[in-house]
Amino acid sequence: MRTTKWMVTAALLASLGAAAQQEANSNSSAPVRDASQAAQASQPAASAPAPAAPAAAQPVNAPQAATAQPPAAAVPTTMDDVVNLFIQHEHGLIKMLANRTPIVETYLQNLSFDPQLGPVPAEDHYFLGRMDMGENVDRKDYLRDEEKSMQQRLMGGFQKLYKVQYQPLGFSWMVYADRTDFDRNHYDFKYVRREFVGDVRCLVFDVTPKKDAGRGRFLGRIWVEDQGFNIVRLNGTYYPAPRNSYFFHMDSWRLNLIPGYWVPSFIYSEEGDFSAGAKNKLAFKAQTRIWGYDLKKGGKDNELTQIRVDSVTDETPANQDASPLQAERVWQQQAEDNVVDRLVNGGLLAPEGDVDRILQTVVNNLEVTNNIDLPRPVRARVLLTSPLETFSVGNTIVISRGLIDVLPDEASLAAVLSHELAHIVLGHNLGSKYAFNDRMLFNDDTTYQNLGFRHIPEEEEAADKKAIEFLKNSPYAQKLDSVGLFLKALQQRAPALSALLTTHLGNPLAANGTVTRLAALATQGPALDNAKVDQIAALPLGGRVKVNPWDDKAEMVKTAPVAMTSARDKMPFEVTPFFPRLARYGTTTAPAASPNTAAASNNPAASNN
Ligand SMILES: [Zn+2]
Repeated sequence: MRTTKWMVTAALLASLGAAAQQEANSNSSAPVRDASQAAQASQPAASAPAPAAPAAAQPVNAPQAATAQPPAAAVPTTMDDVVNLFIQHEHGLIKMLANRTPIVETYLQNLSFDPQLGPVPAEDHYFLGRMDMGENVDRKDYLRDEEKSMQQRLMGGFQKLYKVQYQPLGFSWMVYADRTDFDRNHYDFKYVRREFVGDVRCLVFDVTPKKDAGRGRFLGRIWVEDQGFNIVRLNGTYYPAPRNSYFFHMDSWRLNLIPGYWVPSFIYSEEGDFSAGAKNKLAFKAQTRIWGYDLKKGGKDNELTQIRVDSVTDETPANQDASPLQAERVWQQQAEDNVVDRLVNGGLLAPEGDVDRILQTVVNNLEVTNNIDLPRPVRARVLLTSPLETFSVGNTIVISRGLIDVLPDEASLAAVLSHELAHIVLGHNLGSKYAFNDRMLFNDDTTYQNLGFRHIPEEEEAADKKAIEFLKNSPYAQKLDSVGLFLKALQQRAPALSALLTTHLGNPLAANGTVTRLAALATQGPALDNAKVDQIAALPLGGRVKVNPWDDKAEMVKTAPVAMTSARDKMPFEVTPFFPRLARYGTTTAPAASPNTAAASNNPAASNN
């Protein structure tokens, strides 16, 4: 049974704002003091018990019960005490995370120089895996073998130019400054200044390895918050590099996702210099995202107990047997629920949340205006990965975080959703084999080999045709110019973005560098004009959806608009630095800067309401 539907005409951006509206944090008005004053104040020291948070707000498996926090230390009275405290807490963090295996995603764009647009992507690469936070930083890859060998070739190329110290992939090194020897014997720490990062007041230190400390030591700057004295940001590289090798520069951010700990969440890397006369052997920008800290280890034994089939409600009226059609529908729903649960348990799908409701509002607008009446409501969920993809299983539409990020407006979101809605309406149901529970019994790192929702070309064509019908009857009919512009921008960048356009579960939006999805709409709208500052055809990655790396919940980013001053500010589909607005556990965050500046791209600060 379907509840009465109504059309919601609010613009997406408005509804995004409303859904994301939260109380502004009131904690940021504390007067600035220097560290010695802070020390004399009656502020709780780092290891004092964390402020009591409501039990319900704590993440499941919050580790403070399982893992002792660092032993209580005196309130620091000198800068030396502060250094001792953050060193101690760094070791505490390493220990606390040692049995975690979060997901690590790195998306890298190699750059070439365009006189008009500045550095632009020339090609791209994508890595996804689980990282064992235990003794060795190690990544277990989700991608298929042929993709792995591509990676090995790529990294082989990297290693020829610059030997990468930590194998196999160097982008997650900087989760810690130094895993084994972060201490006063190996490093000098020099206090620089105080600085607010978001709502969090920090003490800034320069860190240099001592002479003879050995190769590959951290060299750079760290930010230490001034209540618990935990490192919240690391920025720098490793030094000295062994001969013929090279360490990337990185900017590594942590979030206060659980009481007492700041957890590694984002790492931005960038190399390359396009100034006159510079040699650019290797120019790239890369974003590394870490999430899924609270996932189970992912063995088959665990998953046996995680499978839920009891969520399927039998909607057959009492005292009636299921008709063949009803049986078919229950069967399909069972498959759909299995797949959705399995993807959530594997850390690839966000748990149900506010973003889903925004997506469903758009789907609802399409349904109402097209008189679509399905036996079960269409649901929408967020895939947590960056590659641009959508797919559907049963009545659930899945859209990737990366795709939501780059879409310029609600009409283009409606366009990509309409294709999946068309598959559902046309009965192109692929997933029914997943109603067999044995098909859910696989290790997380083989998810992409065990699940797949790709349609045959005939169904793709039919879905596109139907989708355009839906759009033309919908409130978005007058706004299809922006869909056309988005498709043109995607086409312009597609040859350089094959990794971003490589889908892992659904049909790709492009084949061999040519955009195929909704191709009939690509002629719609004005010509793409890269020089036109106010023509926004597509957005940078990371500007719309933020993910809580501990519990995988997705929410919309709250950004304030930032005026663009040149065509180089547009950065469609591009990687930008991270600049999360930091907040302490249990507090909410204020709007962050827009991603359309080089200095701000994401607002993933934890919100645990
Ligand atoms: Zn399709």
